[in-house]
Amino acid sequence: MKSIHAQFAWLGGESCALNVRITTNNGLISAIEPNSAATAKDLRVVGVVMPGFVNTHSHAFHRALRGRTHSGAGLGDFWSWRTLMYQVANRLTPENYLALASAVYSEMALAGITSVGEFHYVHHQPDGKHYQDPNEMSKALIEAARIAGVRLTLLDVAYLHGGLNGQKLGQEQQRFTDSTIENWLSRVDMLGASSAMHTVGLAPHSVRAVHEVELAQIAKHRKNRVVHIHVSEQPAENEACRAATGRTPTKLLSDAGLLGSFTSAIHATHLDASDIALLGQSKTFSCFCPTTERDLADGIGPSAELVAVGSPLCLGTDSHAVIDMFEEARAVEMHQRLISNKRGVHRSSELLAAATVHGASSLGSKIHGLVVGAPADFIAIATDSVRLATFDGENGAAHLVHSATSSDVRDVWVGGEQIVKDRIHRSVPNIAESLRTSIAAVL
Ligand SMILES: [Zn+2]
Repeated sequence: MKSIHAQFAWLGGESCALNVRITTNNGLISAIEPNSAATAKDLRVVGVVMPGFVNTHSHAFHRALRGRTHSGAGLGDFWSWRTLMYQVANRLTPENYLALASAVYSEMALAGITSVGEFHYVHHQPDGKHYQDPNEMSKALIEAARIAGVRLTLLDVAYLHGGLNGQKLGQEQQRFTDSTIENWLSRVDMLGASSAMHTVGLAPHSVRAVHEVELAQIAKHRKNRVVHIHVSEQPAENEACRAATGRTPTKLLSDAGLLGSFTSAIHATHLDASDIALLGQSKTFSCFCPTTERDLADGIGPSAELVAVGSPLCLGTDSHAVIDMFEEARAVEMHQRLISNKRGVHRSSELLAAATVHGASSLGSKIHGLVVGAPADFIAIATDSVRLATFDGENGAAHLVHSATSSDVRDVWVGGEQIVKDRIHRSVPNIAESLRTSIAAVL
């Protein structure tokens, strides 16, 4: 049994509670007591304790592109960025990806991320041949998360086609594919049982790469696993889907039996009114990745409409142009303000929930947050910086969403174990150097 005494804690509302004792036992939260005096045994936390961030959409190796693809005239669009990204994808090996991903997940831990959903599609050797263990790359990612001390949902990607009209996969996409949906399902089944620190989910890449009959197969063989899929990130994807099938990607997923509270629609940017209604009725999650979507000039998704009809929002750092879940949460609201000429489209508590508890549900967790019975995954935000020096708990959610950065995360606990203490990671002491060397190896 361990206990901490927090000066402030965000328990889900607009304001923060004061003087909150949090007791943990066997990795779970066993008591939350606001307005309590500290006892001699308590670890005193000055600042704000809140649930750990849940990053629902990550491609760990994209971190290698940070600082290399963002500026200059004539940068092109999503599709020209993808060419650069594929070059890095084809330099990955199980060894260098283990080093890179453990550095990236450690950077996430430092930013207060306690769970990550890794949308993983670099499965095989560059020529498409399997490694001796066909899940060698997946296992490298599971090991990377273990080193970093964060929970992982390995969203194993099915990638079967180069488009909706029978286009073959390109040379640079050979290592992503298992050729058939049956091969993919049996390889994913071979990943075996989950552990306390990792689970496996199913991730058809997109309606371009996995067609309707295969999507229906995934629905049939889901076995309680969550489903994540890129949906309508680009207008071109919608146009191709309509031309080939007469339907939108969202309608196609609905017809394949793949919408529901077990599914997350990643990006969900270019939706029409009927798509929004389908996602809402089915309680499908909408995962926004605003710092990536704006970097890639994707557009701004209809977050307010989705929330209004019942699709919970969750958030991902996706390409890792930055790893800062406060920035993702803030961006959802700020992008809406710019396009609606209205302020306060989303409540701040709703934005923090998107970055924490809804994200955990999207990854299949039954309970998350500062509640009794949840895993003891929480973080402490320092309030001694110039950014948060006037923090007093009143409107605490708004103060955090609109002013805090990942640099304000001081301490991180996962399963009751402290993995970051005073901004130092317990097992990866020099994360910046780990990033430098592991990224240099794949460029
Ligand atoms: Zn993605």
